[in-house]
Amino acid sequence: MLQHPAKPTSLLLAALTALVATFAVGRDAAAYIPDDRWSTTASGSTGVQGDGATITWSLVADGTSIVSEGSSNLISYLDGLFGVSSGGNNFSARPWFSLFQESFDRWTELGGINFVYEPNDNGVQMGGNAAGALGVRGDIRIGGAAIDGPNGTLAYTYLPNNGDMVIDTGETAFYSNSANNYRQLRNTVMHELGHAFGLLHIESSSDHLLMEPFIDTSFDGPQLDDVRGLHGLYGDALEKTNNGAGNDSFGLATSLGAIAAGGSKLIGAAAASGQSVGANETDFVSIANSSDFDFFSFTVNSASLLDVTLTPLGGVFFQGAEGGAQSSFDANARNDLTLAVYGTNGTTLLGTASSSAAGLVESLAAVSLPAAGQYYVRVSGSTTNVQLYQLQLSVQSAVVAQPGDFDGDGDADGNDLLVWQRAFGVSGGGLAADGNHDGVVDDLDLAILTAHFGQSLGGAAAAVAAIPEPAAATLCLLGAAMLFGRSRAR
Ligand SMILES: [Zn+2]
Repeated sequence: MLQHPAKPTSLLLAALTALVATFAVGRDAAAYIPDDRWSTTASGSTGVQGDGATITWSLVADGTSIVSEGSSNLISYLDGLFGVSSGGNNFSARPWFSLFQESFDRWTELGGINFVYEPNDNGVQMGGNAAGALGVRGDIRIGGAAIDGPNGTLAYTYLPNNGDMVIDTGETAFYSNSANNYRQLRNTVMHELGHAFGLLHIESSSDHLLMEPFIDTSFDGPQLDDVRGLHGLYGDALEKTNNGAGNDSFGLATSLGAIAAGGSKLIGAAAASGQSVGANETDFVSIANSSDFDFFSFTVNSASLLDVTLTPLGGVFFQGAEGGAQSSFDANARNDLTLAVYGTNGTTLLGTASSSAAGLVESLAAVSLPAAGQYYVRVSGSTTNVQLYQLQLSVQSAVVAQPGDFDGDGDADGNDLLVWQRAFGVSGGGLAADGNHDGVVDDLDLAILTAHFGQSLGGAAAAVAAIPEPAAATLCLLGAAMLFGRSRAR
């Protein structure tokens, strides 16, 4: 149920009690307040907590009976608001249909539910016991009736496994408000969809959340705690990949593509900015429970060193059940995560990190990836609580530089001597001729060059071929360099 920001009437409270209050008792604190998730839909079993689900939705034709409300008049009501004179039963062609579609699509792109429009609805009473059936009617059915006229209740929705939604067709000014692409209508529908898949009301004095009981149009769609609720019940959007098998094993890993030397990949960053979620943000990943494993794969084109940072996210905010006391809640520390890196066979462990407590970063530095190929990173948790996170992978080349190779061409020769001469006496960071990395180009660096003169990364034979100077000429060059260096140093 969603209400105008006015004091609710006793009638509204009674309706709320009948729909949700009996489910709100005895739940573990989770900020978002879950009810039962869907167990079975028209598409089959939905598995267990944290598994994805397919849930269909349909619009009922006018005249369809609604429990406790009489006949639905939603279609003619919306047609009237949008100036449709005649449209028959092809609801998806109506100008208002896209607002419903966008509302379902927004939840779909944020987590493990795949909402699918079911164009059929056979008109049996909604709000009752009629389960969804493919080609017959949706799991969630949407109708409308004059609930209480303007103000008060905007809509209400039955919890799973019912999910039917009743929109108050006594509201005219509210639903016809076109500001921000009919945000008042869309936020109402998206809020009710939260109930339809299993979320109850929450209140927050510090932040704005979609599942609060009064309409709020200061944001667009689900906010971070609402997304957490979706993930807690049905997992993240990656649980829908691989035909619903998710990314729980290395063979089903989510590909992050190639990472070049000096490059990095970041996933889950949309959850890093507190409870506020923009309407276009979709990059949210989470561990839903202790048996949820998130595998990611990536490739490197040569031997590399990998840095990995795993940051638990979710934010800290005040929250409480509807009408109850509020308290500070740390959604960063819901589940103590473990990080692991695996080799190209997906099973050889190259590095793991789990020492930090829940809420703190786990990281691995300079994990050796011994050759080009595809590697794997796994994120897992230790409790049944959902944990949003951000994962960053950074790759550096593992190629060891040839000592004295100041010009970076793979060998130590006369050209490197020229580089050293031109930089002699210069101080600073990252100087090519600063062979011992002490911040100044000096005789110590020349000593490194002379010690390795004639060597190359290609091996001894290549080194000989690459060095045209005979030994005497080399010594002569070095002697000149020493003199040059001393004159510069004075
Ligand atoms: Zn509500």
